[in-house]
Amino acid sequence: MSLLEVRGLKVHFPITEGVLFERRIGAVQAVDGVDLDIERGETLGLVGESGCGKSTVSKAILRLVEPTAGSVSFDGHEVTRLGGEELRRLRRRMQMIFQDPYSSLDPRQSVGSILSEPIRTHNLERDGAKVEARVRELLEVVGLPGEAAGRFPHEFSGGQRQRIGIARALAVRPDLIIADEPVSALDVSIQAQVVNLLEELQEEFGLTYMVVAHDLAVVRHISDRIAVMYLGRIVEVASSDELYESPLHPYTIALLSAIPIPDPAVEVGRRRILLTGDLPSPADPPPGCRFHTRCPYRQPTRCHDEAPALRQLGTAHTVACHWAEDIKAGKLKPHEVPVEDTDALAAALAEQATTAPRAGRPRL
Ligand code: SF4
Repeated sequence: MSLLEVRGLKVHFPITEGVLFERRIGAVQAVDGVDLDIERGETLGLVGESGCGKSTVSKAILRLVEPTAGSVSFDGHEVTRLGGEELRRLRRRMQMIFQDPYSSLDPRQSVGSILSEPIRTHNLERDGAKVEARVRELLEVVGLPGEAAGRFPHEFSGGQRQRIGIARALAVRPDLIIADEPVSALDVSIQAQVVNLLEELQEEFGLTYMVVAHDLAVVRHISDRIAVMYLGRIVEVASSDELYESPLHPYTIALLSAIPIPDPAVEVGRRRILLTGDLPSPADPPPGCRFHTRCPYRQPTRCHDEAPALRQLGTAHTVACHWAEDIKAGKLKPHEVPVEDTDALAAALAEQATTAPRAGRPRL
C-alpha cells in the first residue's frame, strides 16, 4: 500500500454573483480529477506552470482547502472523512514547507518559539528543558547553530529562514512532507544547498516528499518520479530519468525544451518549442483535451471532442494524450510552432541526458 493515494481529487471554487441573493454562476475547476500515489521513502515531483492547480492539490491533501470530490488516503486513513482530533493527529504526520520563507515565519516569534510551538501543540514533549533540547537539535539538523533559537526570523537570510521552515516541519516527526516551491524564492546559489539538505534529511529520517515546483530542472534532481500537471489535471507521470529522456506528452516536451542545456555546444543548437497562447482559465477550460488550444501536435476533432484518459504506455509511464504513440514514433510532426525541430530536440535531450550528472539522485 502506498503511503499516499489520491483518487479523483477535485477542488472547484464556486463563482457567485449578487449581493443580497448570492447565486452560483459557475466554478473555477482548480483541480479536476487528479490521481496520485506516493510510496514510502519516495519523492514525487509535481510540476506545472503557475495556475495549473498544483498548490491546490497540496492544500487539498492536507485539508487546508476542502476537496469538492475524490479521496485522499494517507497510510490507510481517509483524510477527507476525518475531522476534529483525528484530523489533527493525522496532520502531525503530514507537514508542509512553504514557498516564501519570509512570510511563512511569524516575525514576532523567536525561532525557539516557532519550533517549540508544534512540539507542544501535538503533545510530543511537555518538559521545558527537553523541548529546548529538541529545538537545539532541530536547528543543528538543518545546519544552524543552537543559539539561533534566541533570535528572530528577520535576523536570518532567505536560505536560513527556509532551513528554519524545514526544522519546523521536522519538529513533529512527520512521515510526509509536502514542499511547495521550496527553493523558488531563493537565490540560485542557495537553492542547491536547500535541495541537498532535503535529500540528506530524507535519508536520515526516512521521509517521503512531494515537491511542488514550476521548474522541471529543480525537481528532476530531487524526484524519483515526476507528475506533470496542466490546467487541473495530471497529463504525464514517469520516473524522473524516463520523463527527462523520453517525454511523451506534448506539454512535457515543450517544458523540457525550455530548460537550458549545460553544454555550450549543444545549447547553441537547442530549438525551443514555444507554446502559443496563455494558460486557459480554469473557470472555462477547453473541451476535449485541455491542452488542445496550445498543443503543437493537436489533431482535428478528436483532440477537441474527447478528453484523453491517463493511460499506461511503457513500464510505470502514464500519459494523457490520444496521439502519444504516434508522437513518440515520429509519425506526427508539430505544426504552427514558432520554432521547431523535433530531431534537434530529441538530439538535445539525449545529449543533455548524457552530459547532466545522473548517478542515482545526484547532489546539485
Ligand atoms: Fe495534443 Fe491532442 Fe495529445 Fe491533447 S490529445 S496533448 S491536443 S495531441
